[in-house]
Amino acid sequence: MSGFKNQKYEVWFLTGTQNLYGDDVLEQVAEQSRIVSDLLAKNINAPVEIIWKPILKTSDEIRQTMQDASSNNACIGVIVWMHTFSPAKMWISGLHALTKPLLHLHTQANSQLPWSTIDMDFMNLNQAAHGDREHGHIQARLNHSRKIVVGHASDAYVQRRISNWTRAAIGWHTSQNLKLARFGDNMRFVAVTDGDKTGAQIKLGFSVEAYGVNTLVEAVANVTDKQIDALIPEYLDKYDVVPELKPGGARHTSLRYAASQEIALRSLLEDGGFGAFTTNFEDLGGLKQLPGLAVQRLMADGYGFGGEGDWKTSAFLRIVKSMTVGEKGGTSFMEDYTYHFGPGEPKVLGAHMLEVCPTIASAKPKLEIHQLGIGNREDPCRLVFDANPGNGFVSCLVDMGDHYRIIINEIEVVNPDAPLPNLPVARAVWKPLPSLEVSAESWIYAGGSHHTVMSTAIDIEVIQDFAEIAGVELLEINAKTDARAFRHNVRWNSAALKFQS
Ligand code: MN
Repeated sequence: MSGFKNQKYEVWFLTGTQNLYGDDVLEQVAEQSRIVSDLLAKNINAPVEIIWKPILKTSDEIRQTMQDASSNNACIGVIVWMHTFSPAKMWISGLHALTKPLLHLHTQANSQLPWSTIDMDFMNLNQAAHGDREHGHIQARLNHSRKIVVGHASDAYVQRRISNWTRAAIGWHTSQNLKLARFGDNMRFVAVTDGDKTGAQIKLGFSVEAYGVNTLVEAVANVTDKQIDALIPEYLDKYDVVPELKPGGARHTSLRYAASQEIALRSLLEDGGFGAFTTNFEDLGGLKQLPGLAVQRLMADGYGFGGEGDWKTSAFLRIVKSMTVGEKGGTSFMEDYTYHFGPGEPKVLGAHMLEVCPTIASAKPKLEIHQLGIGNREDPCRLVFDANPGNGFVSCLVDMGDHYRIIINEIEVVNPDAPLPNLPVARAVWKPLPSLEVSAESWIYAGGSHHTVMSTAIDIEVIQDFAEIAGVELLEINAKTDARAFRHNVRWNSAALKFQS
Protein backbone atom coordinates (compact mmCIF):
# COMPACT_ATOMS: atom_id res chain seq x y z
CA MET A 1 0.00 0.00 0.00
CA SER A 2 1.44 3.34 -0.91
CA GLY A 3 -0.28 5.62 -3.36
CA PHE A 4 -3.99 5.60 -4.02
CA LYS A 5 -3.89 4.88 -7.75
CA ASN A 6 -5.58 1.51 -7.62
CA GLN A 7 -8.37 2.53 -5.29
CA LYS A 8 -11.82 2.31 -6.84
CA TYR A 9 -14.45 4.14 -4.86
CA GLU A 10 -18.19 4.21 -5.47
CA VAL A 11 -20.83 6.63 -4.27
CA TRP A 12 -24.37 5.32 -4.67
CA PHE A 13 -27.09 7.64 -5.91
CA LEU A 14 -30.41 6.76 -4.24
CA THR A 15 -33.76 8.23 -5.19
CA GLY A 16 -36.70 8.11 -2.83
CA THR A 17 -40.29 7.87 -3.99
CA GLN A 18 -43.35 5.70 -3.26
CA ASN A 19 -45.84 3.47 -5.09
CA LEU A 20 -48.68 6.00 -4.87
CA TYR A 21 -48.07 7.61 -8.25
CA GLY A 22 -48.45 4.72 -10.73
CA ASP A 23 -46.00 3.21 -13.18
CA ASP A 24 -45.91 6.08 -15.68
CA VAL A 25 -44.83 8.62 -13.11
CA LEU A 26 -42.34 6.22 -11.52
CA GLU A 27 -40.74 5.62 -14.92
CA GLN A 28 -40.29 9.36 -15.27
CA VAL A 29 -38.87 9.55 -11.74
CA ALA A 30 -36.35 6.86 -12.63
CA GLU A 31 -35.42 8.49 -15.93
CA GLN A 32 -34.96 11.93 -14.41
CA SER A 33 -33.02 10.68 -11.40
CA ARG A 34 -30.68 8.90 -13.79
CA ILE A 35 -30.10 12.20 -15.59
CA VAL A 36 -29.26 13.94 -12.29
CA SER A 37 -26.98 11.06 -11.33
CA ASP A 38 -25.21 11.17 -14.72
CA LEU A 39 -24.78 14.92 -14.44
CA LEU A 40 -23.02 14.45 -11.11
CA ALA A 41 -20.98 11.54 -12.44
CA LYS A 42 -19.61 13.75 -15.21
CA ASN A 43 -18.89 16.75 -13.01
CA ILE A 44 -17.74 15.47 -9.65
CA ASN A 45 -14.10 16.35 -9.07
CA ALA A 46 -13.07 13.33 -7.04
CA PRO A 47 -11.74 9.86 -7.86
CA VAL A 48 -15.12 8.16 -7.49
CA GLU A 49 -17.76 6.59 -9.64
CA ILE A 50 -21.35 7.71 -9.04
CA ILE A 51 -23.50 4.59 -9.26
CA TRP A 52 -27.19 5.13 -9.98
CA LYS A 53 -29.45 2.68 -8.18
CA PRO A 54 -33.07 1.82 -9.01
CA ILE A 55 -35.57 4.15 -7.37
CA LEU A 56 -36.67 3.22 -3.84
CA LYS A 57 -40.41 2.79 -3.31
CA THR A 58 -40.80 0.73 -0.14
CA SER A 59 -39.26 0.21 3.30
CA ASP A 60 -37.90 -3.16 2.24
CA GLU A 61 -36.17 -1.75 -0.84
CA ILE A 62 -34.68 1.07 1.22
CA ARG A 63 -33.42 -1.22 3.98
CA GLN A 64 -31.97 -3.73 1.49
CA THR A 65 -30.15 -1.01 -0.44
CA MET A 66 -28.71 0.50 2.75
CA GLN A 67 -27.54 -2.94 3.88
CA ASP A 68 -25.93 -3.51 0.48
CA ALA A 69 -24.19 -0.12 0.62
CA SER A 70 -22.94 -0.86 4.12
CA SER A 71 -21.50 -4.25 3.22
CA ASN A 72 -19.98 -3.21 -0.12
CA ASN A 73 -16.31 -2.35 0.40
CA ALA A 74 -16.11 -0.17 -2.70
CA CYS A 75 -19.06 1.98 -1.61
CA ILE A 76 -17.83 4.92 0.47
CA GLY A 77 -21.11 6.76 0.81
CA VAL A 78 -24.63 7.37 -0.47
CA ILE A 79 -26.37 10.41 -1.91
CA VAL A 80 -30.12 10.50 -1.27
CA TRP A 81 -32.73 12.62 -3.01
CA MET A 82 -36.50 12.49 -2.65
CA HIS A 83 -37.64 13.25 -6.18
CA THR A 84 -41.25 12.87 -5.07
CA PHE A 85 -42.71 12.41 -1.64
CA SER A 86 -41.21 9.37 0.08
CA PRO A 87 -42.86 9.01 3.49
CA ALA A 88 -40.00 9.10 5.93
CA LYS A 89 -41.12 6.29 8.24
CA MET A 90 -40.13 4.06 5.31
CA TRP A 91 -36.52 5.24 5.80
CA ILE A 92 -36.08 4.58 9.52
CA SER A 93 -34.88 0.97 9.36
CA GLY A 94 -32.73 1.72 6.31
CA LEU A 95 -31.03 4.64 8.02
CA HIS A 96 -30.42 2.46 11.06
CA ALA A 97 -28.77 -0.12 8.79
CA LEU A 98 -26.55 2.40 6.99
CA THR A 99 -22.93 2.53 8.15
CA LYS A 100 -21.61 4.76 5.35
CA PRO A 101 -21.57 8.57 5.09
CA LEU A 102 -24.73 10.18 3.70
CA LEU A 103 -25.27 13.31 1.64
CA HIS A 104 -28.80 14.61 1.30
CA LEU A 105 -29.04 16.34 -2.06
CA HIS A 106 -31.99 18.71 -2.10
CA THR A 107 -32.49 19.24 -5.79
CA GLN A 108 -35.02 18.80 -8.57
CA ALA A 109 -34.84 17.58 -12.15
CA ASN A 110 -35.68 20.98 -13.60
CA SER A 111 -33.78 24.12 -12.81
CA GLN A 112 -36.37 26.56 -14.14
CA LEU A 113 -39.99 26.53 -13.20
CA PRO A 114 -42.02 26.16 -16.45
CA TRP A 115 -44.25 29.11 -15.65
CA SER A 116 -46.42 29.02 -18.76
CA THR A 117 -46.95 25.27 -18.99
CA ILE A 118 -46.93 24.06 -15.41
CA ASP A 119 -49.90 21.83 -14.61
CA MET A 120 -50.85 19.24 -11.97
CA ASP A 121 -48.93 16.47 -13.76
CA PHE A 122 -45.75 18.51 -13.34
CA MET A 123 -46.64 19.23 -9.71
CA ASN A 124 -47.24 15.51 -9.12
CA LEU A 125 -43.81 14.59 -10.51
CA ASN A 126 -41.66 17.34 -8.99
CA GLN A 127 -42.21 17.35 -5.25
CA ALA A 128 -38.67 17.47 -3.85
CA ALA A 129 -39.31 20.89 -2.29
CA HIS A 130 -41.54 19.20 0.29
CA GLY A 131 -40.48 15.55 -0.19
CA ASP A 132 -36.95 16.37 0.94
CA ARG A 133 -38.33 18.26 3.95
CA GLU A 134 -40.19 15.15 5.09
CA HIS A 135 -36.94 13.25 4.65
CA GLY A 136 -34.95 15.91 6.50
CA HIS A 137 -37.33 15.60 9.43
CA ILE A 138 -36.54 11.95 10.05
CA GLN A 139 -32.82 12.54 9.56
CA ALA A 140 -32.98 15.31 12.14
CA ARG A 141 -35.09 13.27 14.54
CA LEU A 142 -32.65 10.33 14.29
CA ASN A 143 -29.76 12.79 14.57
CA HIS A 144 -28.25 10.99 11.61
CA SER A 145 -24.86 12.37 10.55
CA ARG A 146 -25.25 13.96 7.13
CA LYS A 147 -24.45 16.80 4.78
CA ILE A 148 -27.22 18.72 3.06
CA VAL A 149 -26.53 20.33 -0.32
CA VAL A 150 -29.18 22.49 -1.98
CA GLY A 151 -29.33 23.40 -5.66
CA HIS A 152 -29.45 22.13 -9.21
CA ALA A 153 -26.99 19.41 -10.18
CA SER A 154 -25.69 21.52 -13.07
CA ASP A 155 -24.57 24.28 -10.68
CA ALA A 156 -20.78 24.37 -10.28
CA TYR A 157 -21.08 25.36 -6.61
CA VAL A 158 -23.37 22.39 -5.92
CA GLN A 159 -20.92 20.10 -7.73
CA ARG A 160 -18.04 21.48 -5.71
CA ARG A 161 -19.80 20.94 -2.40
CA ILE A 162 -20.64 17.37 -3.37
CA SER A 163 -17.06 16.82 -4.56
CA ASN A 164 -15.77 18.04 -1.21
CA TRP A 165 -18.06 15.67 0.68
CA THR A 166 -16.98 12.83 -1.60
CA ARG A 167 -13.35 13.55 -0.74
CA ALA A 168 -14.25 13.57 2.95
CA ALA A 169 -15.93 10.18 2.49
CA ILE A 170 -12.70 8.92 0.89
CA GLY A 171 -10.87 10.16 3.99
CA TRP A 172 -13.29 8.30 6.22
CA HIS A 173 -12.83 5.13 4.16
CA THR A 174 -9.05 5.59 4.51
CA SER A 175 -9.34 6.05 8.26
CA GLN A 176 -11.48 2.91 8.60
CA ASN A 177 -8.98 0.79 6.69
CA LEU A 178 -5.66 2.31 7.80
CA LYS A 179 -2.87 0.40 9.51
CA LEU A 180 -0.07 2.46 11.04
CA ALA A 181 3.38 1.15 12.01
CA ARG A 182 5.18 2.79 14.92
CA PHE A 183 8.93 2.28 15.04
CA GLY A 184 9.65 2.90 18.70
CA ASP A 185 7.35 4.64 21.17
CA ASN A 186 6.50 8.32 21.28
CA MET A 187 8.90 10.94 22.63
CA ARG A 188 9.24 10.71 26.39
CA PHE A 189 7.26 13.28 28.43
CA VAL A 190 5.46 14.74 25.40
CA ALA A 191 1.72 15.00 26.10
CA VAL A 192 0.05 15.74 22.80
CA THR A 193 1.62 12.88 20.85
CA ASP A 194 0.53 10.31 23.43
CA GLY A 195 -2.94 8.86 23.70
CA ASP A 196 -5.31 5.94 23.72
CA LYS A 197 -4.69 3.83 20.63
CA THR A 198 -7.63 1.56 21.34
CA GLY A 199 -9.84 4.61 21.74
CA ALA A 200 -8.58 5.93 18.41
CA GLN A 201 -9.46 2.68 16.68
CA ILE A 202 -12.94 2.66 18.22
CA LYS A 203 -13.61 6.24 17.14
CA LEU A 204 -11.71 6.52 13.86
CA GLY A 205 -11.08 2.95 12.72
CA PHE A 206 -7.33 2.99 12.18
CA SER A 207 -5.05 0.45 13.83
CA VAL A 208 -1.79 1.56 15.47
CA GLU A 209 0.79 -1.22 15.61
CA ALA A 210 4.13 -1.10 17.41
CA TYR A 211 7.48 -2.42 16.18
CA GLY A 212 10.79 -2.32 17.95
CA VAL A 213 13.27 -0.19 16.06
CA ASN A 214 15.35 -3.36 15.59
CA THR A 215 12.81 -4.49 12.99
CA LEU A 216 13.83 -1.48 10.94
CA VAL A 217 17.54 -1.83 11.75
CA GLU A 218 17.52 -5.42 10.48
CA ALA A 219 15.61 -4.51 7.34
CA VAL A 220 18.15 -1.77 6.58
CA ALA A 221 21.01 -4.24 7.06
CA ASN A 222 19.38 -6.62 4.60
CA VAL A 223 19.19 -4.10 1.75
CA THR A 224 21.55 -5.08 -1.07
CA ASP A 225 24.01 -2.92 -3.02
CA LYS A 226 22.06 -3.80 -6.13
CA GLN A 227 18.85 -2.36 -4.66
CA ILE A 228 20.69 0.83 -3.69
CA ASP A 229 22.34 1.08 -7.12
CA ALA A 230 18.88 0.97 -8.67
CA LEU A 231 17.55 3.83 -6.51
CA ILE A 232 20.43 6.34 -6.70
CA PRO A 233 19.73 7.38 -10.33
CA GLU A 234 16.20 8.40 -9.27
CA TYR A 235 17.67 10.75 -6.66
CA LEU A 236 20.05 12.22 -9.25
CA ASP A 237 17.14 12.74 -11.63
CA LYS A 238 14.55 14.18 -9.25
CA TYR A 239 16.68 16.42 -7.05
CA ASP A 240 19.62 18.82 -7.22
CA VAL A 241 22.09 16.58 -5.43
CA VAL A 242 25.05 18.34 -3.83
CA PRO A 243 28.39 17.15 -5.29
CA GLU A 244 29.59 15.52 -2.05
CA LEU A 245 26.60 13.12 -2.13
CA LYS A 246 26.90 12.19 -5.79
CA PRO A 247 28.59 8.94 -6.90
CA GLY A 248 32.31 9.49 -6.41
CA GLY A 249 31.62 12.34 -3.96
CA ALA A 250 33.25 12.38 -0.52
CA ARG A 251 29.97 11.56 1.28
CA HIS A 252 28.24 9.34 -1.24
CA THR A 253 28.26 6.53 1.31
CA SER A 254 25.89 8.57 3.46
CA LEU A 255 23.46 8.85 0.57
CA ARG A 256 23.67 5.12 -0.03
CA TYR A 257 22.82 4.57 3.61
CA ALA A 258 19.83 6.93 3.34
CA ALA A 259 18.73 4.95 0.28
CA SER A 260 18.92 1.72 2.25
CA GLN A 261 16.64 3.27 4.87
CA GLU A 262 14.10 4.18 2.22
CA ILE A 263 14.19 0.71 0.67
CA ALA A 264 13.84 -0.97 4.06
CA LEU A 265 11.03 1.27 5.28
CA ARG A 266 9.14 0.97 2.01
CA SER A 267 9.29 -2.81 1.99
CA LEU A 268 8.25 -3.09 5.66
CA LEU A 269 5.28 -0.81 5.01
CA GLU A 270 4.28 -2.55 1.79
CA ASP A 271 4.64 -6.05 3.23
CA GLY A 272 2.61 -5.14 6.31
CA GLY A 273 -0.10 -3.23 4.43
CA PHE A 274 0.71 -0.03 6.32
CA GLY A 275 -0.34 3.38 5.04
CA ALA A 276 1.37 5.44 7.73
CA PHE A 277 4.25 5.26 10.18
CA THR A 278 6.17 7.05 12.88
CA THR A 279 9.78 7.24 14.00
CA ASN A 280 11.34 8.68 17.15
CA PHE A 281 14.81 10.23 17.34
CA GLU A 282 15.05 9.02 20.97
CA ASP A 283 14.90 5.42 19.82
CA LEU A 284 17.10 4.91 16.78
CA GLY A 285 18.86 1.76 17.97
CA GLY A 286 21.47 0.76 15.42
CA LEU A 287 20.29 3.19 12.73
CA LYS A 288 23.20 5.33 11.57
CA GLN A 289 21.05 8.30 10.50
CA LEU A 290 17.75 9.72 11.60
CA PRO A 291 15.62 8.87 8.53
CA GLY A 292 15.07 12.15 6.69
CA LEU A 293 15.19 11.65 2.94
CA ALA A 294 13.39 8.31 3.26
CA VAL A 295 10.53 9.81 5.26
CA GLN A 296 10.22 12.75 2.87
CA ARG A 297 10.01 10.51 -0.16
CA LEU A 298 7.53 8.13 1.44
CA MET A 299 5.29 11.05 2.37
CA ALA A 300 5.46 12.21 -1.25
CA ASP A 301 4.16 8.79 -2.25
CA GLY A 302 1.14 9.16 0.02
CA TYR A 303 2.29 7.65 3.30
CA GLY A 304 1.32 9.32 6.54
CA PHE A 305 4.12 10.28 8.90
CA GLY A 306 4.48 11.83 12.33
CA GLY A 307 7.76 12.68 14.03
CA GLU A 308 8.58 11.70 17.63
CA GLY A 309 6.10 8.84 17.52
CA ASP A 310 3.17 11.12 16.75
CA TRP A 311 0.77 8.49 15.44
CA LYS A 312 -2.31 10.75 15.47
CA THR A 313 -0.71 13.28 13.12
CA SER A 314 0.68 10.46 10.99
CA ALA A 315 -2.75 8.87 10.58
CA PHE A 316 -4.35 12.26 9.95
CA LEU A 317 -1.75 13.02 7.27
CA ARG A 318 -2.54 9.75 5.50
CA ILE A 319 -6.26 10.52 5.72
CA VAL A 320 -5.84 14.04 4.33
CA LYS A 321 -3.49 12.85 1.59
CA SER A 322 -6.11 10.33 0.48
CA MET A 323 -8.59 13.21 0.12
CA THR A 324 -6.27 15.17 -2.17
CA VAL A 325 -5.82 12.65 -4.99
CA GLY A 326 -5.95 14.38 -8.38
CA GLU A 327 -5.76 17.88 -6.91
CA LYS A 328 -2.97 20.38 -7.37
CA GLY A 329 -1.06 21.57 -4.32
CA GLY A 330 0.75 19.63 -1.66
CA THR A 331 0.15 18.11 1.74
CA SER A 332 2.79 17.63 4.44
CA PHE A 333 3.60 16.88 8.03
CA MET A 334 4.38 20.26 9.56
CA GLU A 335 5.40 21.93 12.78
CA ASP A 336 5.03 25.54 13.84
CA TYR A 337 8.70 26.18 14.40
CA THR A 338 9.43 29.85 14.91
CA TYR A 339 7.84 33.29 14.29
CA HIS A 340 8.42 36.54 12.52
CA PHE A 341 6.51 39.05 14.69
CA GLY A 342 7.61 41.98 12.55
CA PRO A 343 8.46 44.38 11.08
CA GLY A 344 5.85 43.83 8.40
CA GLU A 345 3.15 41.24 8.59
CA PRO A 346 3.65 38.57 11.26
CA LYS A 347 4.31 35.08 9.91
CA VAL A 348 5.00 31.52 10.98
CA LEU A 349 8.04 29.62 9.81
CA GLY A 350 7.08 25.97 9.74
CA ALA A 351 9.54 23.11 9.35
CA HIS A 352 10.77 20.03 11.14
CA MET A 353 14.14 18.52 11.92
CA LEU A 354 14.07 16.91 8.47
CA GLU A 355 10.65 15.54 7.62
CA VAL A 356 8.73 17.91 5.34
CA CYS A 357 6.98 16.46 2.29
CA PRO A 358 8.31 17.57 -1.11
CA THR A 359 4.76 17.73 -2.55
CA ILE A 360 4.67 21.29 -1.13
CA ALA A 361 7.99 22.32 -2.74
CA SER A 362 8.05 25.38 -4.98
CA ALA A 363 10.97 24.12 -7.08
CA LYS A 364 13.20 21.10 -7.56
CA PRO A 365 14.36 20.15 -4.03
CA LYS A 366 18.04 20.12 -3.15
CA LEU A 367 19.38 16.87 -1.71
CA GLU A 368 21.89 17.82 0.97
CA ILE A 369 23.65 16.50 4.04
CA HIS A 370 24.17 18.48 7.23
CA GLN A 371 24.98 17.95 10.84
CA LEU A 372 22.03 17.25 13.19
CA GLY A 373 22.66 17.14 16.93
CA ILE A 374 19.23 15.66 17.70
CA GLY A 375 19.27 11.87 17.55
CA ASN A 376 23.00 11.63 18.20
CA ARG A 377 23.79 9.81 14.97
CA GLU A 378 25.68 10.46 11.74
CA ASP A 379 24.68 13.43 9.59
CA PRO A 380 21.37 12.71 7.86
CA CYS A 381 20.54 13.31 4.19
CA ARG A 382 17.51 15.48 3.55
CA LEU A 383 15.61 17.36 0.86
CA VAL A 384 15.74 21.15 1.28
CA PHE A 385 13.21 23.50 -0.34
CA ASP A 386 10.80 26.38 0.18
CA ALA A 387 7.05 25.74 0.11
CA ASN A 388 5.01 26.87 -2.85
CA PRO A 389 2.88 29.97 -2.08
CA GLY A 390 -0.88 29.52 -2.05
CA ASN A 391 -3.98 29.29 0.11
CA GLY A 392 -4.35 26.33 2.40
CA PHE A 393 -4.72 25.23 5.97
CA VAL A 394 -2.96 23.65 8.89
CA SER A 395 -5.00 21.17 10.89
CA CYS A 396 -4.50 18.86 13.83
CA LEU A 397 -6.25 15.94 15.48
CA VAL A 398 -5.91 15.94 19.25
CA ASP A 399 -7.17 13.70 22.04
CA MET A 400 -8.81 15.78 24.78
CA GLY A 401 -9.21 12.75 27.02
CA ASP A 402 -12.99 12.51 26.73
CA HIS A 403 -13.24 13.33 23.02
CA TYR A 404 -11.27 13.99 19.86
CA ARG A 405 -10.90 17.50 18.51
CA ILE A 406 -9.88 18.68 15.06
CA ILE A 407 -8.65 22.24 14.78
CA ILE A 408 -8.18 23.89 11.41
CA ASN A 409 -6.62 27.23 10.62
CA GLU A 410 -6.81 28.87 7.22
CA ILE A 411 -3.40 30.05 6.09
CA GLU A 412 -1.73 31.77 3.19
CA VAL A 413 1.61 30.22 2.32
CA VAL A 414 3.95 33.00 1.19
CA ASN A 415 7.51 33.33 0.01
CA PRO A 416 10.05 33.98 2.77
CA ASP A 417 10.79 37.68 3.23
CA ALA A 418 14.38 36.90 2.27
CA PRO A 419 16.33 33.81 1.20
CA LEU A 420 17.26 31.40 4.02
CA PRO A 421 20.73 30.25 2.91
CA ASN A 422 21.78 28.88 6.31
CA LEU A 423 18.63 26.91 7.11
CA PRO A 424 19.41 23.28 6.17
CA VAL A 425 15.82 21.97 6.23
CA ALA A 426 12.72 22.25 4.09
CA ARG A 427 10.33 24.93 5.31
CA ALA A 428 7.09 26.74 4.73
CA VAL A 429 6.33 30.35 5.61
CA TRP A 430 2.70 31.34 6.08
CA LYS A 431 0.36 34.01 7.32
CA PRO A 432 -2.31 32.44 9.51
CA LEU A 433 -5.79 33.95 9.27
CA PRO A 434 -7.09 36.21 10.62
CA SER A 435 -3.69 37.17 12.11
CA LEU A 436 -0.82 35.45 13.84
CA GLU A 437 -2.01 36.87 17.17
CA VAL A 438 -5.61 35.67 16.97
CA SER A 439 -4.68 32.40 15.30
CA ALA A 440 -2.04 31.42 17.84
CA GLU A 441 -4.10 32.59 20.83
CA SER A 442 -7.09 30.56 19.67
CA TRP A 443 -5.06 27.50 18.67
CA ILE A 444 -3.25 27.44 22.01
CA TYR A 445 -6.46 28.01 23.94
CA ALA A 446 -8.00 25.02 22.17
CA GLY A 447 -5.02 22.80 22.99
CA GLY A 448 -3.98 22.32 19.36
CA SER A 449 -0.80 20.37 18.75
CA HIS A 450 2.54 21.71 17.56
CA HIS A 451 2.48 19.05 14.84
CA THR A 452 -0.01 19.58 12.05
CA VAL A 453 -1.05 18.48 8.61
CA MET A 454 -0.53 21.33 6.17
CA SER A 455 -2.29 21.28 2.83
CA THR A 456 -2.78 23.57 -0.13
CA ALA A 457 -4.60 20.90 -2.13
CA ILE A 458 -8.22 20.85 -0.92
CA ASP A 459 -10.99 23.11 0.39
CA ILE A 460 -11.47 23.49 4.12
CA GLU A 461 -14.98 22.17 3.54
CA VAL A 462 -13.46 18.70 3.04
CA ILE A 463 -12.18 18.73 6.62
CA GLN A 464 -15.50 20.15 7.84
CA ASP A 465 -17.30 17.25 6.17
CA PHE A 466 -14.78 14.72 7.48
CA ALA A 467 -15.30 15.95 11.06
CA GLU A 468 -19.08 15.63 10.60
CA ILE A 469 -18.76 12.09 9.23
CA ALA A 470 -16.34 11.08 11.99
CA GLY A 471 -18.45 12.71 14.70
CA VAL A 472 -15.42 14.65 15.90
CA GLU A 473 -15.50 18.19 17.28
CA LEU A 474 -14.21 20.76 14.79
CA LEU A 475 -12.87 24.18 15.77
CA GLU A 476 -12.18 26.59 12.94
CA ILE A 477 -9.86 29.55 12.91
CA ASN A 478 -10.33 31.69 9.81
CA ALA A 479 -10.63 35.26 8.53
CA LYS A 480 -13.75 35.81 10.65
CA THR A 481 -12.40 34.45 13.93
CA ASP A 482 -12.65 36.62 17.01
CA ALA A 483 -10.50 35.30 19.83
CA ARG A 484 -13.09 35.87 22.56
CA ALA A 485 -15.94 34.35 20.57
CA PHE A 486 -13.68 31.40 19.80
CA ARG A 487 -13.02 30.85 23.50
CA HIS A 488 -16.74 30.87 24.19
CA ASN A 489 -17.24 28.39 21.38
CA VAL A 490 -14.69 26.04 22.92
CA ARG A 491 -16.42 26.34 26.28
CA TRP A 492 -19.92 25.76 24.86
CA ASN A 493 -18.71 22.77 22.88
CA SER A 494 -17.18 21.26 26.01
CA ALA A 495 -20.48 21.60 27.81
CA ALA A 496 -22.51 20.25 24.88
CA LEU A 497 -20.21 17.28 24.36
CA LYS A 498 -20.83 16.13 27.93
CA PHE A 499 -24.43 15.40 26.94
CA GLN A 500 -23.44 13.24 23.95
CA SER A 501 -22.96 9.56 24.29
MN1 MN B 1 8.30 17.53 16.11
